[in-house]
Amino acid sequence: MNPYLLASRESKSTPTIIPVGGCEIGRDFMVIAGPCSVESAEQLFKTAEAVKKAGANFLRGGAFKPRTNPYSFQGLGIEGLKLLAEAREKYALPVVTELLNVEHLEITAHYADIIQIGSRNMQNFELLRAVGKLKKPILLKRGLSARLEEFLSAAEYILSSGNPNVILCERGIRTFETATRNTLDLSIIPLVKELSHLPIIVDPSHASGKASLVKPLSHAAKAVGAHGLIIEVHPNPKEALSDGEQSLDLAQFSELMLSF
Ligand code: PEP
Ligand code: MN
Repeated sequence: MNPYLLASRESKSTPTIIPVGGCEIGRDFMVIAGPCSVESAEQLFKTAEAVKKAGANFLRGGAFKPRTNPYSFQGLGIEGLKLLAEAREKYALPVVTELLNVEHLEITAHYADIIQIGSRNMQNFELLRAVGKLKKPILLKRGLSARLEEFLSAAEYILSSGNPNVILCERGIRTFETATRNTLDLSIIPLVKELSHLPIIVDPSHASGKASLVKPLSHAAKAVGAHGLIIEVHPNPKEALSDGEQSLDLAQFSELMLSF
């Protein structure tokens, strides 16, 4: 038996299209943009206003952050979710935010339009089953060292629990190469489109770890057929509380959008 039957073209030959916030994910090329972490109302609103103006379709922002080190900024938590909800109304941008654990499922689902499951939780099977009970779209990021079969099997957990609205995200994997934060595995984009009906987008920010690489990798992602991008943007990357080195400033983001 195919280990990811529901995610495969065998069970569904037509591409999955997920309508959310006026966008048809899987059909339109869509862009999610915003800060790695929600830091303050000013930071979030400034970013939201700029990315909306530049043509982004969704606002991203982490309220609960999965940080490698316990002393790093952990996010504003529920206050961050509330700021995202405010930005959503103010700038007419649907919101994508990460869910770290089952405990925060209800409140995150209340505020988010798309729930992100981060790389570090790609194989948190309990969490995958829990979001599988929702109907909200789930943005599932590829695990740090996950093979494609493991990635699609993680999607299968969500699908087999009853939620058909899964968007995959390639965000780079660990390889021997340390010149970039991760190695962007662009070859899985056309391969996933052969094997699966699910939409797949690319995160050039976490893949490269370097703002200057975001634009060329974004164009490469589009060229290989990705259904969209998720990009980190900050009004002042040097002062960012997380992932400043890979964040575009507002002008760089606007320039990127004009280049498509
Ligand atoms: C993020 O989107 O900020 C994030 C933590 O991503 P990933 O899970 O891909 O590392
Ligand atoms: Mn980040």
